[in-house]
Amino acid sequence: MDISANSDLVAQVEHLSKRYGTADNPVTALDDVSLGFRRGEFTAVMGPSGSGKSTLMHIMAGLDQASGGRVRLGETDITSLDDDALTILRRRRVGFIFQSFNLVPTLSLQANITLPFELDGRQPSATEQAWIDELITTLGLGSRLAHRPHELSGGQQQRVAIARALATRPDLVFADEPTGNLDSRTGRNVLALLAAASTQYGQSIAMVTHDPIAASYADRIIFLADGKVALDRGRSTPEEISAYMLGMERAA
Ligand code: ADP
Ligand code: MG
Repeated sequence: MDISANSDLVAQVEHLSKRYGTADNPVTALDDVSLGFRRGEFTAVMGPSGSGKSTLMHIMAGLDQASGGRVRLGETDITSLDDDALTILRRRRVGFIFQSFNLVPTLSLQANITLPFELDGRQPSATEQAWIDELITTLGLGSRLAHRPHELSGGQQQRVAIARALATRPDLVFADEPTGNLDSRTGRNVLALLAAASTQYGQSIAMVTHDPIAASYADRIIFLADGKVALDRGRSTPEEISAYMLGMERAA
């Protein structure tokens, strides 16, 4: 599948491959993956452990280099950017929620959440501040804003990372197991927040998850197996998603 530049797509990967290891002992993490991510779409990325989900997120976010193929964010081919240009593009257009939260230990929660604005040398506008306040309330962080990350539980730190990733309303948000450390009620709040970010603000979300219930919040579900796209489905119920997963296990 060849995808030419398409403005409905917020991100495209074309013939993407990633190999780790040595020539004698290669590990193929991604094997000729081509995908388009539409604007405002909430996509769940599923698949067995080691199938390449995190590698795909890292390369699309410009945090790791492909061995072959291309990644476009909007009209920009990020594989051709130098480090400085990539840093600016990431800061302005992309949000990340990764398993290691990457919070700054010396900063308060409040300062961690608004760090993307600080790095971009500006203050949040009134509308942005209202959205940040909504994030803080929805994520139950209001009473913790003066605390430092080490004073919080893992789940609380994860919620701060979520608020920070969504604060600037980036075009594209990558989330790797964002509900993994959360209790089920907070997890549902986070999923509803991601869904709202896509429907209300047209943000595109790409979320790795193992959980059929979490994936049922998405508009689209992509399954990876052995570094390839094994299945690409529209919105599905948790039962349907469990059945896809079972079918893939049987096929493997
Ligand atoms: P997933 O997120 O689906 O569990 P990953 O993308 O983390 O899968 O990994 C895909 C494959 O690439 C696995 O076989 C994994 O062991 C390998 N891999 C990932 N990162 C590295 C690395 N830094 N060095 C060597 N192999 C890696
Ligand atoms: Mg992973």
